[in-house]
Amino acid sequence: MLTTIGLEVHVQLKTRSKMFCACPVEFGAAPNSHTCPICLGLPGALPVMNHEALRLTVLTGLMLGCDITPISRFDRKNYFYPDMPKNYQISQYDLPLCTNGTVPLHDLAYPKDAQKNIVAADKEVALVRIHLEEDVAKSFHFENSTGIDFNRAGTPLMEIVSQPEINSPEEAFAFLTALKQILIHGAVSDADMEKGQLRCDCNISVRPGKQHELGAKIEIKNLNSISGVRRALAYEVRRQTEALERGEALPQETRGWDDRRGETFLMRSKEFAHDYRYFADPDLVPVKTEVLLADARGRMPELPKAKRARFVKQYGVSPYDAGVLADDLALAGYFETAAKGARKPKSVANWILNDLQNALARVGCAIADCPIPPAALDELVNLIDSGKISGKQAKDVFSEMFATGKSAAEIVQEKGMEQLSDADAIEALCDRVIADNPKPAADFKAGNAASLNFLKGQVMKLSKGTANPTVVGEMLERKLKERTS
Ligand SMILES: [Zn+2]
Repeated sequence: MLTTIGLEVHVQLKTRSKMFCACPVEFGAAPNSHTCPICLGLPGALPVMNHEALRLTVLTGLMLGCDITPISRFDRKNYFYPDMPKNYQISQYDLPLCTNGTVPLHDLAYPKDAQKNIVAADKEVALVRIHLEEDVAKSFHFENSTGIDFNRAGTPLMEIVSQPEINSPEEAFAFLTALKQILIHGAVSDADMEKGQLRCDCNISVRPGKQHELGAKIEIKNLNSISGVRRALAYEVRRQTEALERGEALPQETRGWDDRRGETFLMRSKEFAHDYRYFADPDLVPVKTEVLLADARGRMPELPKAKRARFVKQYGVSPYDAGVLADDLALAGYFETAAKGARKPKSVANWILNDLQNALARVGCAIADCPIPPAALDELVNLIDSGKISGKQAKDVFSEMFATGKSAAEIVQEKGMEQLSDADAIEALCDRVIADNPKPAADFKAGNAASLNFLKGQVMKLSKGTANPTVVGEMLERKLKERTS
């Protein structure tokens, strides 16, 4: 069986005000506190375009390699729905702001358990278009009535439509993850699916391998997490495959997703092709995109893909580590600030990806609220690299830094942790250990290299773990060889 998936992604743009009026865009405000005659669709009210929303949409098009339409236009999409005050939605029909373009998938964008079985590595999923429209209000269904909150009505909504080129639930997951990273990098949207800032409808059809034409298109709505999209699609692949294998025909329909039960359910069957009677909105002039495009070029960020490559080249980290660091804008910023003054940026990356991320996860803290500032982590790494403290001591210092916010130098001094690198002091310890352990010393001279580790362990013990292990190893070896010759 072959699976074909197309996604329609709605993105709430990061603007301060609504698409066609000055009402603020704010999540979680008291119901109906952000409304005016324009977004309530009162007679005679005239819309005024939000330039920032236009700029952000063109910037998104630029980041995704789209063609920017030279003269774009807003149209009225006519239909009646209780939570849409005007009985039409201002959207875009035949002249959307952007067409074509792609979303590049990468290994780390796939779900963790699927990263080893990627069918089409570095696949680029083509887009149909990106257009700008206004969002509708939100209905709340109570026991015997329905309430409508118009705060969301008229907020800018960008719709990104993919070609039906996605072939598995895991690819859909990677598409949304990669797209979300790019939107966040461009500061276009916070793209938080749980807050409804990124919403996704999926079209999925399954057909036998030999069949050329696509199977019945089944739409899944109301998905509110990227992992939910994956689960819903996987459920549909199974359901449709089993139905086809039983010889059943699949009707075209719209289904919802019940995350708790892990099942899709029928919402509407026999979807009629709506006639939205689109026509150009007479209240709004066409949009010449030339100036918007020049502005977007100036705001073009470094994209995740370029950042990953640069991290490998500039800091010598592995492609995997570069991916983990670069894909998260906050984490990438932390790393770059810490790595700036570091002698070994790779060590800094290791500390961030292991100890720091584990510590943050343990207390449920975001990198933005990390108690260890980047420069302090850099200081700790330099203390280890210069041999002032051992790797084992560093772990303790790190825990203390994370708990108290004190600097590494402060903690090292307070606890008298400084590593013993003084050659005379170490030499004295080595002499004592060699004298006290004649047999292992003789064994080493006889060619048993492993005895050196035993002797080294004795010196470390004697120094209570403060001796620099590299210096100890070199010193012992030199001393034992001297005695042989
Ligand atoms: Zn308004």
